[in-house]
Amino acid sequence: MASGSSLNYVLVDSEVKLDQSLRELKSLEPKALLAVDCEGVDLTRIGELTIVAVATENKAFIFDVVKLKKAVFDKGLREILEDKTREKLMFDCRNDSDSLWHQYQVKLTGVLDVQLLEVMKRFGGYGGNHGVVKIRGFKHCLELYTSGGLAVNTKNEGRMLLQRDRNLWKRRPLSDVLLRYCAVDTLELFKLYRNLKGFRGEDLSRLRLASDRYIELFRSKAVRSFDRYENNGFLPLGVIGGGDTGFADTSCSGCRRLFPRNEFGEFQLRYGGQKCRVCTRVR
Ligand SMILES: [Zn+2]
Repeated sequence: MASGSSLNYVLVDSEVKLDQSLRELKSLEPKALLAVDCEGVDLTRIGELTIVAVATENKAFIFDVVKLKKAVFDKGLREILEDKTREKLMFDCRNDSDSLWHQYQVKLTGVLDVQLLEVMKRFGGYGGNHGVVKIRGFKHCLELYTSGGLAVNTKNEGRMLLQRDRNLWKRRPLSDVLLRYCAVDTLELFKLYRNLKGFRGEDLSRLRLASDRYIELFRSKAVRSFDRYENNGFLPLGVIGGGDTGFADTSCSGCRRLFPRNEFGEFQLRYGGQKCRVCTRVR
C-alpha cells in the first residue's frame, strides 16, 4: 500500500491484490457510498479504458485494466458497477459509461453525478426548463468548493505530464503522480459531494434521474459523432429536470437528445436541421 500526503490508495495490478480488494469492497455495508472514476486514452467507446478507480471514503483502489484486463470486471467489479442500490459518486460519467459498456459490456448504473449536483446547487434545484448552462470541470469545482490546495496541485502535476504524452494512461509502470491523480479524482469526490450537499431546493431523487440520463447520453447512441455538438461544455437545463421535459419525442439533429417538438422551429423541422438550444449555442 502506498500513501502520499493524506491520500490512502492501493494499486491493484495482480490477481492476488484483485481478490483481496474485491473482498474488501464487498464486505462494506450495503449503503456505503463509493466513488468511481475511469481513465484511459481517448476514453470513449473507441478509445482504451486502462484504469478504473473505486474508492471508499478513506481508501482508493486503483484497478489496472491494462494488466488484469477483463478479470477486473468478471471477478466482481461488474457486480458493483451494475448494482443500482450501490450508489456511486462520479464526476461526468458520460464517457466512462460509454467506454465501460461498449468495451467491457458493463452497464453502469446507480450513479450520483456530482457535476450535475453542482449545476443544481447553482440553479437552486433545477432552474426551469428552457435555459442552457455551462458545466464546470472537476478541478474548477475543487477550487470553488473545497480547500483542497494539495489536491489541486496533484491535478496540475498530472495534467502537465498528460499534455506531454497522450498515451500516458496506458504506459506501465504508472508513476506516483498518476496514482495520486487517480486517488484525488475519487477520494476528493466525497469531500466535494459533502460540501455541495444540503442547499435549498436540493432533491436527490431528481439528481438520480438526471444522472441516469447522463449515463445514457453517449452510451445509448448508435453512432457517436465526436463533433462539437457532442463535446461542448453546455447542458440543456431540462436534463436536470428528471421527467419534466414534457413529451420529449423529437431528436435534435446536432446532439441527438430528445426534446418536446416545440423546442424547434417548423422550418428547421421540415428540412431535418433542427438544433436544440445547446446546439444553437455551439454552432
Ligand atoms: Zn442539440
